Amino acid sequence: MSAFLRLLFRNRLAALGAVVLAVIVILVLIIPVLPLQNPDATATANRFQKPFSAGHPLGTDHLGRDLLSRLLHGTRLSLAVGIAAAIIAATIGSAIGIVAGYFGGRTDNVIMRLVDMLMAFPYILLALAIVAALGPGLMNALIAVAAVNVPFFARNIRGITVGLAGREFIDAARLAGMGHTRIILTELLPNVLPVIVIAMSTTVGWMILETAGLSFLGLGSQPPQADLGSMLGEARSAMISHPHTSIVPGIMIFLIVMSINLLGDGVRDALDPRLRSGALSRPRATTLVRRSGDIPAPTDDLLAIRDLQTQFHVGRHIYRAVGGVSLAVRPGECLGVIGESGSGKSVTALSVMGLVASPPGVITGGAVYFRGQDLIGAPYETLRQKRGDSVAYIFQDPLSTLHPLYRIGQQLAEAIRSHHGISRAEAHRRAVQLLKDVRIPNAESRVNDYPHEMSGGMRQRVGIAMALANEPDVIIADEPTTALDVTVQAQILSLLDDLRRERGLAIVFITHDFGVVAQLCDRVAVMYAGRIVEEGPTAAVLDAPAHPYTRRLIACVPELGGGRRELAAIPGLPPMVDALPPGCAFAPRCDKAQDSCRSGEIALTGTAPRAVRCLYPEEAV
Ligand code: ADP
Ligand code: MG
Repeated sequence: MSAFLRLLFRNRLAALGAVVLAVIVILVLIIPVLPLQNPDATATANRFQKPFSAGHPLGTDHLGRDLLSRLLHGTRLSLAVGIAAAIIAATIGSAIGIVAGYFGGRTDNVIMRLVDMLMAFPYILLALAIVAALGPGLMNALIAVAAVNVPFFARNIRGITVGLAGREFIDAARLAGMGHTRIILTELLPNVLPVIVIAMSTTVGWMILETAGLSFLGLGSQPPQADLGSMLGEARSAMISHPHTSIVPGIMIFLIVMSINLLGDGVRDALDPRLRSGALSRPRATTLVRRSGDIPAPTDDLLAIRDLQTQFHVGRHIYRAVGGVSLAVRPGECLGVIGESGSGKSVTALSVMGLVASPPGVITGGAVYFRGQDLIGAPYETLRQKRGDSVAYIFQDPLSTLHPLYRIGQQLAEAIRSHHGISRAEAHRRAVQLLKDVRIPNAESRVNDYPHEMSGGMRQRVGIAMALANEPDVIIADEPTTALDVTVQAQILSLLDDLRRERGLAIVFITHDFGVVAQLCDRVAVMYAGRIVEEGPTAAVLDAPAHPYTRRLIACVPELGGGRRELAAIPGLPPMVDALPPGCAFAPRCDKAQDSCRSGEIALTGTAPRAVRCLYPEEAV
């Protein structure tokens, strides 16, 4: 609840709306103790007094009644009627919607057709017809306004309920023997309640306006009773000669409706879980860069990450996800990056092209050079041109990276056309060729498939084809085979290996599986808690791991035909990156740790290309 309020008030406009509305509500609630005159007492001698006249701060109307008093009483009535109408409409409409959506079939059809009939009339006309039938009066205006808004709630809530009613947790409740009423009240209602609240908060303003409209026409509140609409109606004839009589209620209607709408929008945003997690702002187009200190010099590698530091600033916490990582690849080379989940592999990879979401991500140091050009400091337009064209990504889950509503051919063509001005037909032809390149059988017809029509392995091939679309020089593959089974994984790996040999691609291959590294990579870097702890040629690292962490990671890989061997899991958990211990981050889990491991900075030492960050390595490097 307090998180909700904090989010709500972070939105300045919503906070403004809340303050204005609170002032108005408090004023009308303390009417009994305010020294107000009788709102209905007429004094024709004092007609049309100007605002700020003695005894009448807002002046008087055509019958000499005190405008301030009438305004506050009228506001109270208008607010009460509008809110009551909203509650009634929401309750009845939602009940109808839930019942129709839950039972479905014929019940749904009959109920919704009746609702459609109500919706077929323009709704102010419908309200007028209802009041005409019931007779004028505030109560009847309330009924009319509530009635014309019922279909709005019924339609909205039915749509949500239909989506929920087919879900597994409803089936489970039914299997558990719950009755319909109980399922609706305990399973469905809590799920649709936020939607009802949001719909209400955005429609209360309208209902107040509609009630005022009916009163303005003389169909709502009856004289001498004041509400905002009737005050406007009575002032109409004196609008030119004594404008203050219309301006006073007009400003009040404006303030109420504006503040309710601003607040309603804020409530909607704050209740939306997607907006809640990502704060209320959209991420920037590139990661925020706030580098302090020296910027490392370029090298002659194709892609060189130099002393990269990426952090997440969340409230007062600073998560050092990447704390000074240096990596480099040359054309035709495959570099493996390996480490436990949470060691900072993905953040390193995403930092290269400025793809870490900001907020909360910030690059606080280091540089990334592509052919000698620094990408970290580069302007957005440069990065946009290089994304996909020079450096392309393959992600873990192709189902979430492909758009579900477009054919894969269209998506490939779009990727090509965003970097090359070629015709649609030409792009389509290239898309088919790409699918052939990644060994998708029958590419001519599969190019028209939707992502859901393909198997996981096929989708990942499309992901690779997408990365290849603009013939990049570097491909960064972030656990591309983790979601696949081993036989498909082997096919994908051999495909990547072939592409590398045929096209001279440089590949940065991120994984947590040493088996995969052994199969594909020339060199490997081992990451732990946001830093490289060991690197070297794959064979050398596998034969003689120098860092205790690497040794234990390798011991976790089962060997086929290797006889009975106990698989040693590493005890303990990786450290939280917002509270890294001084010294070696692995020390708390290491069986060789000494006191000297727990203080000071431990450097990466060794003779290139081998290096290790350990004071007591298993092997000298
Ligand atoms: P992995 O090696 O599994 O790919 P990541 O690079 O995704 O690990 O994450 C590295 C660290 O960064 C983790 O400790 C994670 O908790 C932290 N992290 C990632 N995203 C965020 C975020 N948006 N806010 C705070 N911390 C994050
Ligand atoms: Mg990851």
